[in-house]
Amino acid sequence: MSAQKRLTFPGRIGSILHSIRFRLVLWFSVILALVLIAFSAFIYINQSRDILGESEFRLERKMAALELTLTFSPSGILVPPGVLQDTDVLVFTDPTGQVLASNGPLPAQETLSLAAHAKLEYEQDRNSPDSAISWTQGSGSLHTNYMFVSVPLQIGLGQSGLAILGSPADPYGLESRLQLELAGGSLATLVIALLGGYWLADRAMRPVHTITQAARTIGETDLSRRLNMKSRDELGELANTFDGMLGRLQAAFERQRQFVADASHELRTPLTIVNLETSRTLASPHKPAEYQHALATIRSENDFMTSLVNDLLTLARMDAGQAARQNLPVDLSDVAIDTIERLSSLAARNGVRLEAGDLPEVLILGDRQHLVQMVSNLVENAIKYASGQDKKVSIETGLTEDAGWVRVSDNGPGIAPEHLPHLFDRFYRIDQARMRGSDDAAGPQAPGGSGLGLSIVQWIVQSHGGEIKVESQVGTGSTFVASFKAV
Ligand code: ADP
Repeated sequence: MSAQKRLTFPGRIGSILHSIRFRLVLWFSVILALVLIAFSAFIYINQSRDILGESEFRLERKMAALELTLTFSPSGILVPPGVLQDTDVLVFTDPTGQVLASNGPLPAQETLSLAAHAKLEYEQDRNSPDSAISWTQGSGSLHTNYMFVSVPLQIGLGQSGLAILGSPADPYGLESRLQLELAGGSLATLVIALLGGYWLADRAMRPVHTITQAARTIGETDLSRRLNMKSRDELGELANTFDGMLGRLQAAFERQRQFVADASHELRTPLTIVNLETSRTLASPHKPAEYQHALATIRSENDFMTSLVNDLLTLARMDAGQAARQNLPVDLSDVAIDTIERLSSLAARNGVRLEAGDLPEVLILGDRQHLVQMVSNLVENAIKYASGQDKKVSIETGLTEDAGWVRVSDNGPGIAPEHLPHLFDRFYRIDQARMRGSDDAAGPQAPGGSGLGLSIVQWIVQSHGGEIKVESQVGTGSTFVASFKAV
C-alpha cells in the first residue's frame, strides 16, 4: 500500500471540482456556449428572414398570376389549373367579411378566422399599401403559420369583396429543420469541445502533477532530487526555477551542516587538551611551576574557544540578519587610526612595527563598529602571521575615482597562490596546526586561528556593498585592500 492518502469518492469529486483543469474547461464551455448561442441566433434570424422573404415573393407572384384570371361565381371559385398548390387557401368574402366561397385545406372555422383577420388587415393596409402581405397564426390542423395577401374583387354589380390568398409561411419546414440542425450542431460542438478541452487541460496540467508529486517526495534530508523537466514552456520554466531553488537550498543546508561540523570539530581539540591537561595535573602532586604551566595551557585553550565562540556568534548573527548595521558616514582614516591605537600594544608584544601610511579622509556610508572589526581582523592577522624580526604592518587609506579604500599590508611570510581562492572560506586555514602564541603564563597570547576571521571580514565588506582583494607572494608579504563606494 502506498503511503499516500487515497481520496475517498466525494473527496475525489471535490478535488476535481476544485481543480484548475475543471475550472478551465467550465469557463471555456460557458464562453463557447455563449458564442454558439449568439452564432446560432444570428444564423437562425437571417435564414428565417430569407425563408419568409422567399415565401412572400412566391405568394405575391401567385396572387399576381391569379388576379388577372380570378372570377367570382356564386357556384364556387374558378381557379386556373396549376396555379394553386394543395396547401394554398383561397377565400372570397363580401364587403362585410362574410365568407362567400373558400378553397383549400383549412377547416371551416380556421377559414372564417383567416377571413376576419385578412379583412381587418386589408382595412388597415389601405392606408399603407406597401404592407400588403400579412400574417396570421391560423395554424390549426396544418400546424403551420399562414401568410396571406388580399386584393379587392368585383363580386357583383357595384359590389366589391375580397379575394384572400393564403400560403404556408414555411411550406417545406425549413425553419424547424434549421432549428434542429443548429441546436444539434451546437450541442455536438459543445460536447466535443468539452471532452477535447478536458483532455487538453489534463495534458497541459500533467507537468504540474509531476511537480507536485516530486515536491512531496523531497524531504529536508534529500534535497538532491531534481525535476529535470526538458520542456521549454511556462511549466518547464517553473520546474527549472524550482530546481534552481532546490539547488540553492541544498547548498545552504550543506553549508549549514559543514559549519556545524567544523565548529564542533574546532571545539573538540581545545576541550580535549583542557581535559588531558587537567587529568594529567590532578593525577599526582606537582611543583608550582608545573601547575602554572598547566593553567597557562588551559587559559590559552580557553582564549581560543572564547574567540571561536565569539566569531561563530558574530557569523551566526550576520547570517540571520540580526547584526544591527548603521548606515552613517564613516571616515575610513578614523577607523584606521582607531585600529592602530587599539592594536599597537599587541604589535609591540609580537615584535611587529605597526605603521600608519597615508591616511587621507575617506568617507563612506556604513557601520563604524563593523568597519573597525573588519580592519582589526586584517591587522590582527598581519601581526599574527608577520611576527618576527624586522616585520612591519602598515595601514593606508585612499580614494580612487569614486571608490574609497583601506589597505593593510605586511612583509610577513606571504600566502601561496593555491590558497588565495579559499582564503575567505569559513574555517579555512593554511596551516592546519593552530598557532596559539606562547603558552607561557606571563607571555603574550596571540589569538588562536580558527579560520573565521577573514570570513567575517568578507561578510562585513560585502554587506557594505564593497569588495575585498588580496595580493600576496610567498616570502614577500601580503596586502589586503577593501574598497567601498565613497560618498
Ligand atoms: P585565522 O583565524 O586562522 O587567522 P583567517 O580567516 O583570519 O583565520 O585567515 C585564514 C588563513 O589565511 C590563516 O589561517 C592564514 O594562514 C592566512 N592568512 C591570513 N592573513 C594572513 C597574512 N596577513 N599573512 C599570511 N597569511 C595570512
